[in-house]
Amino acid sequence: MSDILAEFKIFFSNFNARFGTLVNIILWLAVLALVLSVFIRAIAAGYARRKKTPVKVRRPDDSTCEHACESLSQAIRIPTVTGSAAELERLYELLKRSYPRVFSTLGVLHLPSGSILMRWKASERTEQLPVMFCAHLDVAPAGDGWNEDPFGGMRRDGRIYGRGAVDCKGTVIALLEAVDMLLQEGFVPRRDIYFSFGHDEETGGFEGAAAISDLLTKRGLSFDMILDEGGCIVKEHLGDKGFPAALIALGEKLSCSFTLTSSAKGGSASAPPARSAFGVLAEAVCRLEAAHMRCRILPITHEYLRQSAPAMSFGKRLIAANMPIFNKFFPAAFKNNRRILALLRTTMITTSLSADNAESMLPYHARAVVNARLLPGDTPQSVLRHISELLSDLPVDVAMTHSDEKHVPITPTSHPMYQLLCRTLTEQYPSLTCVPTLTTESTDSRHYRHLSDCVIRFRPFFEDNDDTPPHAANESVSELSLGAAVDLYAAFIKKL
Ligand SMILES: [Zn+2]
Repeated sequence: MSDILAEFKIFFSNFNARFGTLVNIILWLAVLALVLSVFIRAIAAGYARRKKTPVKVRRPDDSTCEHACESLSQAIRIPTVTGSAAELERLYELLKRSYPRVFSTLGVLHLPSGSILMRWKASERTEQLPVMFCAHLDVAPAGDGWNEDPFGGMRRDGRIYGRGAVDCKGTVIALLEAVDMLLQEGFVPRRDIYFSFGHDEETGGFEGAAAISDLLTKRGLSFDMILDEGGCIVKEHLGDKGFPAALIALGEKLSCSFTLTSSAKGGSASAPPARSAFGVLAEAVCRLEAAHMRCRILPITHEYLRQSAPAMSFGKRLIAANMPIFNKFFPAAFKNNRRILALLRTTMITTSLSADNAESMLPYHARAVVNARLLPGDTPQSVLRHISELLSDLPVDVAMTHSDEKHVPITPTSHPMYQLLCRTLTEQYPSLTCVPTLTTESTDSRHYRHLSDCVIRFRPFFEDNDDTPPHAANESVSELSLGAAVDLYAAFIKKL
């Protein structure tokens, strides 16, 4: 410490001698002003926190809420795991029975694949482009770890449990319930409103959403807005109870997968070589996990961090309020927040390891599958290059096995439809902040990207936070949140 002070004194006296005291004072005043402004910006960014109050989910109309909850519970009991055509047919019949008014008033196209496209016609001919709401009818397999029957539709303590409760039957039911409620009120939309419910979103939507997209393209349609699943409303953004936020995804990260194959001398394990195929592969996997792709703050991430700053601790807020000066500190500051880290860079993780060996035999080949989620701007080819360079000194072959080659544009926050959605949300819940973001999951909406310059991924459901990964065990939705979503969809439809 004394060395640093001594060096500082020498620097100060040299500078003084060379440029004079006045220049010296001006320089240090400028440094002081810069430091002060950094702190003032952080304090100002946190000032909004004082005005925030916890959000209270409004009680929806009892009979509407009960009807929606019971319909969702019944829908969950039909296990429409992707590929089960008979179950999709049963679900279609259930929806028709639960919402006869909707199915008899709207134009309904039930595709042979099981997907549904509905059209709610405008009251009169209009120049306004239509809008489309999307969700999907299929669900991911249940997986392990459930405390309830994943296809039991159990209602307990104000929640509905089961696969699809959140992703995505809850959205289908909330939309149909909202339309039913509006039809009862005698409401007729000012523009055409479409509803697209795909049957294979969980495996990529290549036959469902893609086919609907082709159909809409052939009809020459384009949309003012397409609203699909994605973000939600969190009561405690970044763990701050006083900061409820609507996380509205305006873009999505694409997915691609790579196979790493290591080769070595196989045969009996009785006299093993120095390195096995597994040993080499393990080193490759560890290297990939340790060497992240570079961080980039996209304009939308910049906006996410700026809007989220009031929910951050002072240290993190200091960084977020002073972008781009402190941009390179983000990965370290948010190293425990995987949601934010995923917004900053392309992520990669090994999802499967395999080899063709027996218990006492060494494999000739071992394979790892690595799944990457691409930050807009990175491409499958640039990720392949990154992996190949990183493993160039290892006997590992790298190959791309799957990639969503499509470029998915990011909807600007200045788009009138995004603004209208935010206005609807904050009119109903004034304490909400709308925070634009990217979804790290693939959605059906990428098949519709050419049909609108405003694709939004958001469902107005209230969650405590956004920490629960999709397709987790014990998937559930709060009955109150389902009812509130019906009200919010209805309020939004009325404004379109
Ligand atoms: Zn989904």
